[in-house]
Amino acid sequence: MSNYLDGNAAAGALSELFAVDLTAAIAQCNGCGNTTVFAESRVYVDAPGTVARCAGCDTVLLRVVTTPTNTYLDLRGLTYLRVPNS
Ligand SMILES: [Zn+2]
Repeated sequence: MSNYLDGNAAAGALSELFAVDLTAAIAQCNGCGNTTVFAESRVYVDAPGTVARCAGCDTVLLRVVTTPTNTYLDLRGLTYLRVPNS
């Protein structure tokens, strides 16, 4: 049994930072070039913070860690996020 959830599980943590819903954004993986809707990534919520991994190659796409005073956002595994204009 897998211990990850789909990308929608990161919606709460990301909504603290972004005014748009990033789970509907198109994301490109830096590791394998896989381009999918962010909601299709694998999200681990039992890590320190929230970790999203590529469903294709397991590269860490995104990490969000919230401390009592700050939120850290690591996007280095993403080539880009494409968000439709509203
Ligand atoms: Zn990948």
